[in-house]
Amino acid sequence: MPIRILSEHLANQIAAGEVVQRPESAIKELVENSIDAGATHVTVVVKGAGKQLMHVIDNGSGMTRDDLELSIIRHATSKLLTEEDLHAIATLGFRGEALASIAAVADVEIRTRRSTEPTGWVLTARPGEPPSIKAEGCDVGTQVLVRNLFYNVPARRKFLKSDLSEFRAISDTMQRLALSRPHVRFTFYDGNVLVFDVHASDLKRRIAEILAIDVTQSLISAEAEEQGIRVSGFVGLPSIARQSRSGQFFFLNKRSITSRYLAHAVATAYEHLLESGRQPVFVLTISVDPHRVDVNVHPQKHEVKFDDERLVYLLVQQAVSRALQQANVVPAFLSDIGLAPSPLQSLPQQGGSALIVNRLTGEVLPSFQQQQGGWQGSNARTSEAYGSLFQSAEPSAPEQRTMQALQVDQRFVITYSNEGVVIVDQHAAHERVIYERMVHRSTDEAQAGQALLFSVRTQLSPSHAVLLREFLPEFIALGFRVDVHDDNSVDVMAVPSDVRPGNEERTLMDMLDAIEEVGVIPSNIRRERIIALFAARQAIRKGDRLQSNELTALIRDLFACTVPHVSPSGQPTYIIITYDELVQRFR
Ligand code: ADP
Ligand code: MG
Repeated sequence: MPIRILSEHLANQIAAGEVVQRPESAIKELVENSIDAGATHVTVVVKGAGKQLMHVIDNGSGMTRDDLELSIIRHATSKLLTEEDLHAIATLGFRGEALASIAAVADVEIRTRRSTEPTGWVLTARPGEPPSIKAEGCDVGTQVLVRNLFYNVPARRKFLKSDLSEFRAISDTMQRLALSRPHVRFTFYDGNVLVFDVHASDLKRRIAEILAIDVTQSLISAEAEEQGIRVSGFVGLPSIARQSRSGQFFFLNKRSITSRYLAHAVATAYEHLLESGRQPVFVLTISVDPHRVDVNVHPQKHEVKFDDERLVYLLVQQAVSRALQQANVVPAFLSDIGLAPSPLQSLPQQGGSALIVNRLTGEVLPSFQQQQGGWQGSNARTSEAYGSLFQSAEPSAPEQRTMQALQVDQRFVITYSNEGVVIVDQHAAHERVIYERMVHRSTDEAQAGQALLFSVRTQLSPSHAVLLREFLPEFIALGFRVDVHDDNSVDVMAVPSDVRPGNEERTLMDMLDAIEEVGVIPSNIRRERIIALFAARQAIRKGDRLQSNELTALIRDLFACTVPHVSPSGQPTYIIITYDELVQRFR
C-alpha cells in the first residue's frame, strides 16, 4: 500500500482515542479549560452518563471569534508558546488537543463571549464537516455542549461500560476537581437531579461537603515543608477510615494525581492504627516549583514524575505522622521516624508496673503484670531507668527471680503473663530497647560513651566521607568521636557504649552504608532516623545465645518501653497466644 498522509479528520479521530477515552475524560478536559479560563463558577450537566449530553458552563474569560475558530483545531492552544513553558506548566491544559479530539468524535457546540465584547459567538461542529460560526447574544464566559459522544465510532461506543459505571467515573472526577479548587463554585447535575452545588470556600469546608464528613470532629490538618516542596491538607482520624480508598486524594500543584507510592507513605503513618482492611481518609496537596515536576507524561496527566520522589514520600509520611501525633493518636517521638506505631501504649505506673492502654478507644487492656513477681521492673520512668540491656540483668529485686524465660531456636524468647504465652523476637525487641534508650539519652550522656584506648584509623570512600561530614552532629550525639581528615581517612576515638568491642570500625561503616541507602533524610528527623539505623545494627541477632539473666532483662526492658510492640523498623516485637486461644486449640 502506498504511504499517504492521514486526513486531518482521521488524525483527529485517532488522537481522540488517547485524550477522550470515555465521557469522564471529556468532562475533565472541559472543566479544566473552564478553570484555566479563570472561571469562579462552573456548572456541569450530564445526561445518559455523558453519552447523550455533556454541558459545561463557565463564567471565565470567554473567547474572541478568532480564538473560537482556532480552539477546535489540533495543537491550537493559548497556553504554551515556547519550549521553556513546557518545563514549567502552570495551567491544566497545554496540548491543545482536547477540543479538537472531542469534536472529532461528537457533535460540539461552543457558545462564548468575552466581557469586553458586545456580542458572543456560537460555533457548531460535526465530525468530518467544516465548523460554522455565527454571532449571537450569550452570557459572558463559555458553554460547551457535547452531544452523542462516539456516535461516529461505534467500536468505541460499544467499549463503554454501563451508564452506572460511566456516571461513577464522572462523579469521581467531579469530586476531584471540586476538591482541587475550593475557591471555585461547582454545580453538578445528573439530568435534572442536582448532585452537588458547592460554593466557594476553603479546603476544610469543601472536604466536608464533598466527602460528607464531620470535619470538626474527625479531620486534622497536616503539613510539612522542605526544600521548596510543601505538603498540606487534612487527614481523617482512624475512626472515619473507610472500607475502600474512596476517601483518598492527592493533588500536585492543584492537579489531581494518583500515586501508589505516596499512598504507601500515608499507609505507613497509619500503620497499626487501623483495623485490617480499613483505608484512611485524606486530602493532601503537594506544591512544588513546576520546574521540578514533569507533567508531560501522559495525556490523561494522572501520572507525574518528581525529580525527588523520595523526598516527597518522606514529607507526606512526616505530615501525616505529625498530624496523627498532634491529635494524640500516636505516641510523640514515634511519629517523626516513619515507624509503625500501635494504638496500644504501655504507660508506666507507680510501683513500676505498666498499664497497657489503647489510645484510640481509651480502653485499658489486661496488663502483663503478674500477681507474684512477673515483669514489673523497678523502672518507674522508662527513660531514666535504662542501663544497658546486660547491665540491668542482675537479679537485684527478689520478685524478679520468679520470671521465667526460655530461648528457643536461638531467636525467640518465650515467657508468659497472666494473659497468655508471650513469644518475643529477640532481635526486634532489642532493637526497640536500644532505640528508646538512645532517643531518651542526652548528648552529654552519650558522649560520656566509650572512649577507645587506642584510636582506630580507617580509610573512607569519598561518598562515605561526604556523608560522615554531613551527619557529623548526629554521629556525635550518638556517642561517636571521630576526626575526618582531608584525605578521607578517619580516626575513631570513641564509639557509643552499645557498640561491642572490636566492632567499632564495622559499625561506623555499616551506618554510613545504611544512610547512603536511605537517601535524603529531612533534617528534623535525622537524629531519630540515625538512632533507628544504629539500633537495627547493634541489636542482638538471631543465632546469638542469651544467658537466662539476659533473657529476663530483655523482656523487662522491652515492656518498660513506651512502645513495646513494634521495632523502630516496624516489625512486631512480640505476639501473645492467650490462654483462651490455647484452650480452643486443644478442643
Ligand atoms: P488546551 O487546554 O490544551 O490549550 P484545548 O483543546 O482544551 O487545549 O483548548 C484549546 C484552547 O481553547 C485553549 O487553549 C483556550 O484558549 C481555548 N478554550 C477552551 N475552552 C475554553 C474556555 N472554557 N474558556 C476560554 N477559553 C477556552
Ligand atoms: Mg484543555
